[in-house]
Amino acid sequence: MIPAAFDYVRATSLDDALAKLAATNGEGKLVAGGHSLVPLMKLRLSQPKVLIDIGRIPGLAGIREKDGTIEIGAGTVHHDVASSALLRKQCPVVSDVAAEIGDPQVRNRGTLGGSLAHADPSADYPAAMLAVDAEIHMKGRKGWRKVKASDFFQDLFTVDLAPDEIIASVQFVPVRAAAYAKLHQRASHFAIVGVAAALDVSGGRIQSARIGLTGAGPKAIRLTNVEEALAGKAASKETIAAAAELAGTDFKVINADIHASAEYRRAMIPVFTRRALQGALARLD
Ligand SMILES: Cc1cc2nc3c(=O)[nH]c(=O)nc-3n(C[C@H](O)[C@H](O)[C@H](O)COP(=O)(O)OP(=O)(O)OC[C@H]3O[C@@H](n4cnc5c(N)ncnc54)[C@H](O)[C@@H]3O)c2cc1C
Repeated sequence: MIPAAFDYVRATSLDDALAKLAATNGEGKLVAGGHSLVPLMKLRLSQPKVLIDIGRIPGLAGIREKDGTIEIGAGTVHHDVASSALLRKQCPVVSDVAAEIGDPQVRNRGTLGGSLAHADPSADYPAAMLAVDAEIHMKGRKGWRKVKASDFFQDLFTVDLAPDEIIASVQFVPVRAAAYAKLHQRASHFAIVGVAAALDVSGGRIQSARIGLTGAGPKAIRLTNVEEALAGKAASKETIAAAAELAGTDFKVINADIHASAEYRRAMIPVFTRRALQGALARLD
């Protein structure tokens, strides 16, 4: 439980962090909240020679409106996302998701960027990022890049982020009619099954839906068969109940551990899909 020896440096800007990272020749790691990286280092599953602390870079944290979207800085801690008045008003699902992460210590240290880069298969944010169709903005030595959440999450702990890139922020068009429903593991609060659902409703009909699921497989995914079953239908509890039954029927649930078998997760997916969709519908009132 004692990490291998490492050096520690603190970055003062994104460019400074990139330069410090490049100087380590692949032996360095960025550290933000440290709540995923430090446990890995203690288990010696990760042994960086240099830790580059990005936790105090001015402007890397913060939540703001930008050109009709909401931008959350990668360094924003979960507590600040959970308690943001802007998000609570315009896109409460993202605050709800942050409020469900871990415990107060985790929420006051862990960051959005760290969670997305780490991409734990039971992490909460990935489901929400899929539901709000977020764009992840990153900077590398060659310049800026942005990637849609649907392309960002690639596999187990694997995302579209080069070792020499830093996530700077996440941007999305706010959705009011969206909600998160999660069955959590009692000790850590990680999702056994977590479903974030966003609805576009007009004239009493569901025009489109985006539903993100975490906890079932190596990465968060969209429940496209449920989305298709909802599109064009009346925005009612009956529509939702029928469509939610399809959740988890078109792929194999493979995640299983001492907390929940694959069969149990599979059984819970329609239940939590229905709850998330009902929550989204209730936000229209
Ligand atoms: C007890 C406990 C309970 C938890 N419960 C939950 C839970 O219920 N739900 C949940 O979703 N998560 C949970 N977590 C995880 C927590 O949310 C982490 O804080 C988060 O996953 C990682 O954020 P961090 O800022 O701590 O990242 P760090 O640990 O600092 O970094 C994680 C990884 O991301 C990289 N990184 C960090 N920031 C950036 C960036 N801006 N750009 C590029 N790479 C970056 C680092 O190099 C490292 O590889 C829990 C953690 C603990 C310890």
